[in-house]
Amino acid sequence: MKKEIQLHNRYFELFLDATTIQDKVKELAEQIKKDYAGKPLVLLCVLSGAFRFAADLARYLDDATEIAFIKVQSYEGIMSSGLVREQLAATVNLSGKHVLLVEDIVDTGTTIHYLMGKLYQKAPASLKVATLLFKPEALKQAVELHYVGFEIPNHFVVGYGLDYEEQGRCLNDLYILKA
Ligand code: 5GP
Repeated sequence: MKKEIQLHNRYFELFLDATTIQDKVKELAEQIKKDYAGKPLVLLCVLSGAFRFAADLARYLDDATEIAFIKVQSYEGIMSSGLVREQLAATVNLSGKHVLLVEDIVDTGTTIHYLMGKLYQKAPASLKVATLLFKPEALKQAVELHYVGFEIPNHFVVGYGLDYEEQGRCLNDLYILKA
């Protein structure tokens, strides 16, 4: 039987273990390193869910990599509200910089679509997206994703930075909601 956990009133089962996640993060970091060779990079971590992914990516990238943060919220419980609220503006000036937006998960695509629109106005030298997880079946907006860790089914997941009502962010593995 798969490992199970309970968060609040819901049950989740193991979906991707920590080793599988770390191997994928290393693989993405290697590709990013090649693509940005000689170009100073700013990782723009979308809080809160991407904090683990961004920290682990940074560990495998060049020492000169900058990291900055932006905070948005679109999910309430296990559902997308369809609206994006910005709670913290980008913490560095992005003008003229090579910016890689780091997301935990792309679901409907609303958040990335909103952020790309806002960030292009800051005149970065380039702007790309890295997401650990992507739910292709849930996508409602046309978005371009440059680095994708795992394509997953359209179910709610927690762990490795992602929460359910603020629980589960510190889990090293990723869990999926049980039917
Ligand atoms: P989108 O705007 O693409 O619909 O959703 C993006 C945001 O919704 C993510 O950054 C994340 O905060 C939240 N989200 C989407 N799917 C999930 C999920 O399965 N689990 C959790 N914990 N958050 C999710």
